[in-house]
Amino acid sequence: MIHYNHFVMAESLEQAYELNQKKSAVICGGFCWLRLQNRTVQTLIDLSGLGLDQIEETEEGFEIGSMVSLRKLETHKGFQAWTRGASADSLRHIVGTQFRNCATVGGSIYGRFGFSDVLTLFLALDAQVKLFKGGVLPLRDFLDRKEDGDILLSILVKKGQAFAAYESMRNEAVDFPVLTAAVCLRDSGFTVAVGARPGKARVISVPATELPGEKIQREEAVKALTEKFIYGTNMRASAEYRKYLAGVLVSRCLEKIETDRKEG
Ligand SMILES: Cc1cc2nc3c(=O)[nH]c(=O)nc-3n(C[C@H](O)[C@H](O)[C@H](O)COP(=O)(O)OP(=O)(O)OC[C@H]3O[C@@H](n4cnc5c(N)ncnc54)[C@H](O)[C@@H]3O)c2cc1C
Repeated sequence: MIHYNHFVMAESLEQAYELNQKKSAVICGGFCWLRLQNRTVQTLIDLSGLGLDQIEETEEGFEIGSMVSLRKLETHKGFQAWTRGASADSLRHIVGTQFRNCATVGGSIYGRFGFSDVLTLFLALDAQVKLFKGGVLPLRDFLDRKEDGDILLSILVKKGQAFAAYESMRNEAVDFPVLTAAVCLRDSGFTVAVGARPGKARVISVPATELPGEKIQREEAVKALTEKFIYGTNMRASAEYRKYLAGVLVSRCLEKIETDRKEG
């Protein structure tokens, strides 16, 4: 269980940032993951009074505050409609509704967990992260950045015409996923993300012509594409099984996208 000596409800981002520069300080999101850790921290910094729990939708895109709960994102009508259900599909298996009411988008992205459904979804959507000091940068670059005491403010997703789909495979309904896959088709082509490999989700972008609509040709192209990701073995599944699953899940995503495109 985690222990902390001081709890600070931050009154400003500047204050939270200053406090967080000490190695013994920790920012908390929903505290769902942190509370399971076996450690003592000097100062726990709560961001929940700073108005970071809103989802802003404009003509250009979405800005999702880091303190938005997974449940709020899952049930956001605009985001659900724009992602054609992929957002809810990625979130609904995470533990349970009460849990998703507490766990935050920011904690999920900042944690960069190897099993993360959330990371897989946002990578496929080509999201950006907005940091207090570090500014805006692509999520795919943020993934490998070392922790530097910065604060994640929000996740940015550009709109435009897009078709997204999400699939995961779990041994049990609310267990950690064995594999996750998300695909998004925009004018620029397909963005394919595969996660729970069991390492951090990774993403590959390909021109639309490389994943043809015809099923037989597409299966071969998907096999070639999913073989480019690296898979590992853990207690949930072998690397070989994960590679096979990746082909199945990405194909399902592409089939859904094809159906959505035909329906307009
Ligand atoms: C039992 C269990 C099962 C789970 N199953 C799944 C699953 O199947 N799929 C899935 O995708 N996820 C799963 N998760 C992860 C979960 O969805 C959340 O990602 C996780 O709990 C972190 O979110 P949080 O809000 O609780 O963050 P916290 O635990 O509060 O923080 C997590 C980390 O992020 C940092 N942090 C938080 N907010 C910020 C910020 N704004 N700026 C900088 N740093 C910040 C914290 O310092 C900490 O290092 C599971 C978690 C648990 C505990």
